[in-house]
Amino acid sequence: MSRFFSNKYDSLDAYVPGEQPKDCQYVKLNTNESPFPPAPAVLEAVRGEAEKLHLYSDPECKALVEKLAETYGLKPTQVLPTNGSDEILNFAFMAFCDREHPIVFPDISYGFYSVFAKLNGVPYETIPLKEDFSIDHREYVGIGKNIVIANPNAPTGLCLSLKQVEEIVASNPHNVVIIDEAYVDFGGESAVKLIDKYDNLLVTQTFSKSRNLAGARLGMGFACESLIADLNTIKYSTNPYNVNRMTMAAGIAMLESTEYFEKNLAEICRVREYTAAELRKMGFTALDSKTNFLFVRSEEIDGEKLYAELKKRGVLVRHFTAERIAQFNRVTIGTKEQMDVFLEKTREILKEQKQ
Ligand SMILES: *Cc1c(COP(=O)(O)O)cnc(C)c1O
Repeated sequence: MSRFFSNKYDSLDAYVPGEQPKDCQYVKLNTNESPFPPAPAVLEAVRGEAEKLHLYSDPECKALVEKLAETYGLKPTQVLPTNGSDEILNFAFMAFCDREHPIVFPDISYGFYSVFAKLNGVPYETIPLKEDFSIDHREYVGIGKNIVIANPNAPTGLCLSLKQVEEIVASNPHNVVIIDEAYVDFGGESAVKLIDKYDNLLVTQTFSKSRNLAGARLGMGFACESLIADLNTIKYSTNPYNVNRMTMAAGIAMLESTEYFEKNLAEICRVREYTAAELRKMGFTALDSKTNFLFVRSEEIDGEKLYAELKKRGVLVRHFTAERIAQFNRVTIGTKEQMDVFLEKTREILKEQKQ
């Protein structure tokens, strides 16, 4: 740290992304990317835009906004694309949270929420998950504070029902409720259909997980017109060209590649169920995932040890050190072939452990 770094960031611990190793070819199951490349139409669209990179991108993202509105059954004024969904989450903290408007979220959830709170000087509280790692939605009903909930939650993979989400939104009319749907396409129930009914609901989604574009950085927020207008005020005060030309073209092409998208989703869900069943045969506990990852533990091996042993054998998964979940690992669903390598190495490790 230099002597110039503002002391307003004294309590800030920056978010630590999952490892992106460059040294060797890992079976990479640690950051919930899609194992499949973008649809062929994306490559063509990006190439076309590359020739125009000397010109700024459209700050209104008009073509993409219209395509998103059409895809999700909303008005263009209810949609805001951003540089990954991390950006719209940060915009929401900037726009709606401050000392008088604190925020609450589950104790085990996406690690970025506390980072955004600290970055923006927003007081926050966490509410413990239940013993079974599910969210007790009643704890949020009528809480009278801003709320952010990942649904499905990460890294547990568990869901709230749409009815439970609606109860939370309806019972906190004077607060903004952010539902982070990064994984919703893998089996959750989206709250997008509640947007016309509630003016305090912001739903965020991303192209990083289910739409094969993690490296393009594209996310979006869906909300009533006035919330989107506020978020646009923040956007135009920080980075008006937040979505670059190539990403915008990639996003539109991906939204048009419906068949490819659906085929990939079905395959990931199929491989998820296969992997969970194989792990359970080995004695693992796997939470009931509605995402593209599994959250798993075995009584036979320490969580951190399993992570380290897998890494030695060329398989990367994500381990978190927080006490409640230190025995677990989060395993991204890759291709069937990748998961077979993971399963084989895991069997090997468990066997050695017993000797
Ligand atoms: C991956 C993820 C995001 C953000 O991803 P982006 O790549 O920034 O769109 C947001 N929330 C959760 C819960 C995630 O897992």
